[in-house]
Amino acid sequence: MEFSGQVVLVTGGSRGIGSAVAKMFAAKGALVVVHYNRNKSAAEETLKSLSGEGHMIVRADVANADDVKDMVDTVVTGLGRLDVLVNNAGIYEMHPLESVGYKFWQDSWRRTIDVNLIGAANSCYCAARQMMKQGGGKIVNVTSRGAFRGEPEGPAYGASKAGQNAMSQSLAKALAPHNIFVYAVAPGWVATDMAADHLAGPDGEGIRGQSPLNRVASPEEIARAVVMLASEGTDFMTGCILDVNGASYLRS
Ligand code: NAP
Repeated sequence: MEFSGQVVLVTGGSRGIGSAVAKMFAAKGALVVVHYNRNKSAAEETLKSLSGEGHMIVRADVANADDVKDMVDTVVTGLGRLDVLVNNAGIYEMHPLESVGYKFWQDSWRRTIDVNLIGAANSCYCAARQMMKQGGGKIVNVTSRGAFRGEPEGPAYGASKAGQNAMSQSLAKALAPHNIFVYAVAPGWVATDMAADHLAGPDGEGIRGQSPLNRVASPEEIARAVVMLASEGTDFMTGCILDVNGASYLRS
């Protein structure tokens, strides 16, 4: 797994899984663009921790289509090309049907779909158009086990991640003739800010017990899958959805 000379954009690289992904790509020689939305200081921390030189940070609200275009333009202007896009930025909001009001329900669906699905779709569009000019590239979408297993308290999240999986497969077909390969990584629970309250609360033990390993994943374990899929020799895996859930949910 060697990425010398390749430019990798990691959305949501400021924290959690994205930060681990950024570090792993940099350790393997890539020039990394750490994207953030609100946490500039966290993005700068990640940037400082990367091995090698020449990395950069970029800000965008991925729910804003103009921001997404500017993000990709900034990468190409700054580093000359874009070889790998990792769509990792995402939100999880609880909106259980039986207890939230109609307005809250609608707002939560809209925010979740705008960030997790449409944000990723627009990032794919802008990145793939650049990759076509270059003769190829790779896109890895970080989705979720929730797409298959159900998210009773966050149905918009489950739907957004199922949508990301389906989008990855459709784009794998559409973009293969352009030498652009598209993958999804579907984690179960991961020890990040997104999961911290659940893991620290009364449900924590049950969550860890979902896996026969009796724990959740580290961000680095997800990063390894992302970096592996973006590496050389995985072209024929295009369209795959790779489960990284510690055998907590098996599908065949
Ligand atoms: P996290 O620690 O909460 O970090 C979320 C990241 O997304 C941050 O970098 C944040 O940027 C960025 N982000 C959020 N809203 C954004 C927006 N509107 N525009 C641009 N960036 C935005 O999350 P994580 O746990 O690392 O999750 C990363 C991905 O893995 C997500 O897609 C998530 O759905 C997926 N996932 C996580 C788990 C889990 O258990 N943690 C399980 C399965 C899948 P700023 O901080 O700069 O605002």
